Amino acid sequence: MEAVIGLEIHVQLSTQTKMFCGCRLSFGDEPNTHTCPVCLAHPGVLPVPNKKAIDYALLIAAALECEVAPRSIFHRKNYFYPDNPKAYQISQFDIPIAINGRLGDVRIHRAHLEEDAAKMIHVGESGRIQGSDASLVDFNRGGTPLVEIVTEPDLKSGAQVREWGQLLRATIKQLGVSNVNMEEGSLRCDANVSIRPVGSDVLGTKTEMKNMNSFRFIERGIEAEIERQKQLVASGGRVVQETLHYDPTSGELHSLRSKEEAHDYRYLPEPDLVPIAPSEQMITSARESLPELPAAKASRYRDQLGVQDAAALLLSFETEWAEFFEGVVAADDSIEPRVAANWVTGELAAELRKQGDEAPSGSRVTPASLAVLVGLVASKRVSHSAAKNVLEIMVAEGGEALEIVKEQGLEQISDSGELEAMVEAAIEANPKPAEQVRSGNDKAIGALVGAVMKQSKGRADGGEVTRLLKEKLSG
Ligand code: ADP
Ligand code: ZN
Ligand code: MG
Repeated sequence: MEAVIGLEIHVQLSTQTKMFCGCRLSFGDEPNTHTCPVCLAHPGVLPVPNKKAIDYALLIAAALECEVAPRSIFHRKNYFYPDNPKAYQISQFDIPIAINGRLGDVRIHRAHLEEDAAKMIHVGESGRIQGSDASLVDFNRGGTPLVEIVTEPDLKSGAQVREWGQLLRATIKQLGVSNVNMEEGSLRCDANVSIRPVGSDVLGTKTEMKNMNSFRFIERGIEAEIERQKQLVASGGRVVQETLHYDPTSGELHSLRSKEEAHDYRYLPEPDLVPIAPSEQMITSARESLPELPAAKASRYRDQLGVQDAAALLLSFETEWAEFFEGVVAADDSIEPRVAANWVTGELAAELRKQGDEAPSGSRVTPASLAVLVGLVASKRVSHSAAKNVLEIMVAEGGEALEIVKEQGLEQISDSGELEAMVEAAIEANPKPAEQVRSGNDKAIGALVGAVMKQSKGRADGGEVTRLLKEKLSG
């Protein structure tokens, strides 16, 4: 059996105001401080669409290579729940603003505009309404503009969903139309999962997993659900259509509702809104204003600059890191981009993290100063391990690589006599590994290299040390 997965992703747009009224968007403000008669559904009010939200939806459509509908229509999606004071949500139904797109190897079925529901806060010990327990409603979120993106069922595993989800998030973030923060709920992802015999093109019955707040959890939830369906079918059972919740702490799947309880939304055309008919100029200007998107950037780094796969992805997902990397390469064109990328995503990222920083922007290290350090390593004036010590100081205190190297006496040992003496001392002080190397155990050489590096405070060239050790121990 093979898994078939399709995603529905809700993106909260970061406009100033709500989808159909002038209330400001807010996250974390005092509850019910951003409301008005429109988003509280007082009788007789009329919605007015947010132009910026439409522009943002057109940007998303362009980035996902979608066709834009010449006239898309708003509908009322009817359901009764305390987070929905009108008892309907304004959404799009059969004619969404965008259809038939693609991101990477996943086809986009559609993307449509809608308004978010209010936020429910469940209080009390059980978290459910029981006895003195209660549910509260914060209408600040109600009416926030959303774009819902629906993929075709083109995904095949939890890992692929995580990777593709991260690409989608990076792409939308780059457009500047959403905070794409999953923990705060500005990006929410539902996963539809089914299985079928390998080679079949008929879709099996799917289950839907709701709203997990990280792509890691989604990956694990999907893997657990695929496994559950496979075992069920293998033991003669049948998958039933239901909505599931995955608990990442226990690893368990719980049923939220089955098909029998599924909603009938009775979609009706919204009579208070005209169709959205974007002008040709709005559509082209969205396309033309697209920045270089992560997928294109990653392949440029990989194919044109020779950057390794993993580093290319890491860099292209965060504009700030990409800019830093390009700054290093621009500062010194003798530096190989592949090497610069490894320094930025490897040593620099690790050192920043160690010292409690997430991003290079606030750090004391500049692209130009890192370029100098990488250049010193490339020209063999500083060993790789001494350069890491220099970088540690640069991150902590700032400063220029060359000065730090001189101050700390970290220049690579170029005097072959000095290096040979150290190698001989290490052999003498470590007779056991030395003997093992002599008798053909190459791995034992690591201990000797380590001893020389320690004695030289990292100033020795590891390759040269290994070469000398081999030479001395082969006779
Ligand atoms: P529904 O009518 O239940 O909302 P849709 O056909 O609108 O279902 O599809 C919703 C999402 O589920 C889409 O992302 C789609 O790709 C995915 N999907 C549909 N059928 C399947 C299936 N059998 N297995 C996996 N995903 C599916
Ligand atoms: Zn309002
Ligand atoms: Mg549907």
